[in-house]
Amino acid sequence: MPTAVPRIPLVHGPTPIVRMAALDALVGCRVHVKRDDMTGGAEAGNKLRKLEYFLADAQANAATTLVTCGALQSNHARATALVAARFGLRSLLLLRCTEGPTDPWTDADDLPAVGNVALARLVGARIRRISASDYRQRTALLLESSQEIDRNGGRGYVIPEGGSNGLGSLGYVRAAEEIAWQVRHGAVDAKRFAEVVVACGSGGTVAGLALGAARTDVYQRVRAALVCDDARYFEGVVRRIVQESRAWDDTLGDVVAPVLYDESSRGPRYGEMDPGQKDFLVDVARNTGLILDPVYTGKALYALRLARERRDLGPKDDVLFLHTGGLPGFLATAADLPLGGVR
Ligand SMILES: *Cc1c(COP(=O)(O)O)cnc(C)c1O
Repeated sequence: MPTAVPRIPLVHGPTPIVRMAALDALVGCRVHVKRDDMTGGAEAGNKLRKLEYFLADAQANAATTLVTCGALQSNHARATALVAARFGLRSLLLLRCTEGPTDPWTDADDLPAVGNVALARLVGARIRRISASDYRQRTALLLESSQEIDRNGGRGYVIPEGGSNGLGSLGYVRAAEEIAWQVRHGAVDAKRFAEVVVACGSGGTVAGLALGAARTDVYQRVRAALVCDDARYFEGVVRRIVQESRAWDDTLGDVVAPVLYDESSRGPRYGEMDPGQKDFLVDVARNTGLILDPVYTGKALYALRLARERRDLGPKDDVLFLHTGGLPGFLATAADLPLGGVR
């Protein structure tokens, strides 16, 4: 049953599910790629599914400005800015910066126009640079920034980091229904998946997929490839988001698919890969044309390969890899990759 929570369609769906023999060889099992990097144009990625619900809620609240936060090269902040521009809204982005001056109360108009920042600036997003320590108070800062907009005659609408709350994750409950529909209608060469593998950065995508799986039974579990923090932290985050989602949509049952919080491919830190991960990302690109990014999707698919090496999965297992996007961020950081020479 479709959820009755208001939503404004933004996603070009169903997004394709594709297979590539060379990818199976590199990973070691039957990999089906759900192309959520193709949910749209420049705004594409997993965040667009969440924004369908945020935009509807923002409009219901007569918002003038979407307010959100993220890392400097946040895909979520960029998607929010682009959607705002399309619907005649403004956007205010609080971006965590490790270099240069920071000031949570003053717009910065000198951020290097590369990657996601280039797109956000292009559509006229207001951007403020936030220090790493201010970023820990992001929930309060978002609220205060939104109140500042209210005082100046506008109306702010706060979207949390990564769009990860109970409302946004409904986008991935819906995605699970979309996947089940594709399987039922023969758009996929599998009847059921052993697991769905996805990068986990703020937890909303995993929460939605876990809730949606219980409703559709199309995959047995969710492998959350953590790109930061640890399993304990995300268990708590996902539990909270799942509860919030049920408050929005009381047709969601009590059952949630098992989630495996996988720290094996987290790498040295957020946004950084170890040499083996970088080589894998380059190998995938050169053998399949599939572009992964170093922050999220590259680590998620690498987690699957490591799981196969540990024999957590068999060579004939059908696995759904959710490609969540991230190309603009990649374009700002590709210089770190070993691109010299043809292997
Ligand atoms: C935000 C993001 C993720 C992680 O999704 P969360 O819901 O924040 O866990 C994965 N991949 C890409 C490309 C992203 O931008």
